[in-house]
Amino acid sequence: MVVYNFAAGPAVMPKPVIQQIQTELPSLNGSGMSIMEISHRSPAFDAIIQQAEARLRHLMAIPDDYAVLFMQGGGTGQFAAAPLNLATKHHHIAVLDSGQWASRAAAEAKRLGIAADVLATTKPDHYRHLPTMPEALAQDTYDYLHLCLNNTVEGTAYTTLPEHGDTPLVADMSSNICAQRYNVSDFGMIFAGAQKNLGPAGVTVVIVKRALLSDVEAVPSALDYTLFDKKNSLYNTPPVFAIYALNLTLGWIEDLGGIDAMEKRNREKSSKLYAFLDRSKLFHNYVEPRDRSLTNVVFNTGDADLDQAVVDAAAAQGLMNLKGHRSVGGLRASLYNAMPLAGVDALIDFLTQFEKEHE
Ligand code: PMP
Repeated sequence: MVVYNFAAGPAVMPKPVIQQIQTELPSLNGSGMSIMEISHRSPAFDAIIQQAEARLRHLMAIPDDYAVLFMQGGGTGQFAAAPLNLATKHHHIAVLDSGQWASRAAAEAKRLGIAADVLATTKPDHYRHLPTMPEALAQDTYDYLHLCLNNTVEGTAYTTLPEHGDTPLVADMSSNICAQRYNVSDFGMIFAGAQKNLGPAGVTVVIVKRALLSDVEAVPSALDYTLFDKKNSLYNTPPVFAIYALNLTLGWIEDLGGIDAMEKRNREKSSKLYAFLDRSKLFHNYVEPRDRSLTNVVFNTGDADLDQAVVDAAAAQGLMNLKGHRSVGGLRASLYNAMPLAGVDALIDFLTQFEKEHE
């Protein structure tokens, strides 16, 4: 049975990448040692981490005055690291509450004693559209404005950015990094856990404008951007295997034509599924169409038991992990870079059949 994995993360990885990992796992470059066994200070790993950084810089067109860091702690770690490193002048950040992960970022800043103003929220509308700034963003008030660019749980994504004047933007790109094109210089900082579009869990990518960095003392070393920049992400032991797999995944993205090609594929996949959902009498996507995510398509039947029946029947046919996030229920198909169009076609065929049987 062909299996398609629609999980939200950790998520499907490209087959050629998994195959290369399998081939190389016992002995990296004929060394007789696995990538999991070699030193992070070895020339072999140095070549890997350097290639990963160069590939990411090239793919995302990252300007030279931005540092690229490979850290640990996931997106959640960055909810703390961003305010600790960047909220050093006003000790005050602004957040647009577009969903659970944006609201977590605000909560984490507060937990660390940094004020976080939620400027707008669409929570009362169940996050079915993105919040818009109620008025112009107050200048010289906030160290940055936090945005979650793709809301993994609620299935929305920003395509245009809110007006923010001189206040830097911090972008959580955990679920759409390298899946659609953004202009890096629009942001002060970008972060993403790798486990959706860039490989396995364990490494977190941070892209930060060096001009925003200062020597800050009250930051744990493992979260210190300046320190990681100085030490080329090798201040302590990095997640060697995850960085190796991320590098292969970036190579795969390059081979397929880069981010623009990924975005084209992701648009094709998601439009096909949204078009089906818009036609369907049983399944509904309830997100404001202009805010729909390319990578996480949420839908439901309106009946929790029937949704569960869909999840179970789909899994029996190899269409895995379609259950919506536990906080919202329903169904969710995550269509990250490594999900082929054939997976979406198989899903639509299955849903069409299911609908027929439940008329
Ligand atoms: N931000 C977004 C948009 C996410 O989707 C997630 C995880 N699904 C997180 C942050 C949290 O990331 P982590 O689990 O790596 O801490």
